[in-house]
Amino acid sequence: MAHVTLPREILPTDGRFGCGPSKVRADQIAALVGPGLAVLGTSHRQAPVKKLVGSVRANLGEVFRLPDGYEVILGNGGSSAFWDAAAFGLIERRSQNLVFGEFGGKFAAAAAAPWLDAPDVRKAEPGTRAVAEPVEGVDVYAWTHNETSTGVAAPVERVHGDEGALTVIDATSAAGGIDFSVSQSDVYYFAPQKNLGSDGGLWFAFVSPAAVERIERVAASGRYIPEFLSLKNALDNSRLNQTLNTPALTTLYLLDNQLDWIIGNGGLQWADARTHESSAALYDWAEASSYATPFVADPADRSPVVVTVDFDDSVDAAAVAANLRGNGIVDTEPYRKLGRNQLRVATFVSIEPDDVRQLIRCIDYIVENL
Ligand SMILES: *Cc1c(COP(=O)(O)O)cnc(C)c1O
Repeated sequence: MAHVTLPREILPTDGRFGCGPSKVRADQIAALVGPGLAVLGTSHRQAPVKKLVGSVRANLGEVFRLPDGYEVILGNGGSSAFWDAAAFGLIERRSQNLVFGEFGGKFAAAAAAPWLDAPDVRKAEPGTRAVAEPVEGVDVYAWTHNETSTGVAAPVERVHGDEGALTVIDATSAAGGIDFSVSQSDVYYFAPQKNLGSDGGLWFAFVSPAAVERIERVAASGRYIPEFLSLKNALDNSRLNQTLNTPALTTLYLLDNQLDWIIGNGGLQWADARTHESSAALYDWAEASSYATPFVADPADRSPVVVTVDFDDSVDAAAVAANLRGNGIVDTEPYRKLGRNQLRVATFVSIEPDDVRQLIRCIDYIVENL
């Protein structure tokens, strides 16, 4: 395969454009090996780590302007563990799952548990999105805020179904990069290794009073729930700034630092404007390009944090991604199961808009010189 050497003056300052794990800012690493060292390698049952967990919970509350009565809970295992925890402890009888990509599909699979009624799965073609519809007997409505596998973003808007039905949003790649109103959801959950620029291993969720009531009711119902996947256990431990078992301290520390950084810059509104600036640069370029097109046809569905761009047959996207990688610009390959002639670029809040503009120059340069 041809190897194109990119001129130095068009290289981005940081070559990480992956959708998760994603860019961790150098300042976060510096803080980790500075003041962070006091907490690494110390007991998660003692005050310094509990204080760190408390700070993360308070900072999340501030960034996301949590409405009164909402709580921040957390547990181990990342968002994938949350799907199973929700099947055990959040869905009472039946969920409706919107599937417009891999991640929504994985929650739908977890919700097909033998103790529940079969989920009402609403599927849409990759690059488009499905819409929730109130259905009698459904007690959880679930979709992704941002479908990381395709670059489709969906609004967070409460579904008015049966009395007490919950709106449950997987925000793993959206959280901290897209502004919205938490009051439109009952459970907004995510892992912090994407837009929140941390490491993996933990899940966090904002839970409404109705969701807390649901968690407590299902836990008291006599249903078998494994301890590790118990949301009631996570709720009780989170209120004490603890987790059931050992959390990744590095993940907590990097996340807390990222939240401080977002708050210091102006909060979620600032983050939203920054991801829109970066993603618009890519969408505008693709619209104008002779060989590239945004994969998501409807501009209203285009994600501000994960940009997918199709190439026409004259350009081999895999060769472009490989040549970018050869120059230290990594993880622009498309989601592996989508199987398209495409690049996928994260425009998370940690990524400099100027670096996105440089990336565009690099792509054009490679295509001209392949
Ligand atoms: C990455 C991702 C997940 C999986 O997160 P893990 O922490 O690796 O389990 C789930 N949902 C979405 C939307 C994601 O982008």
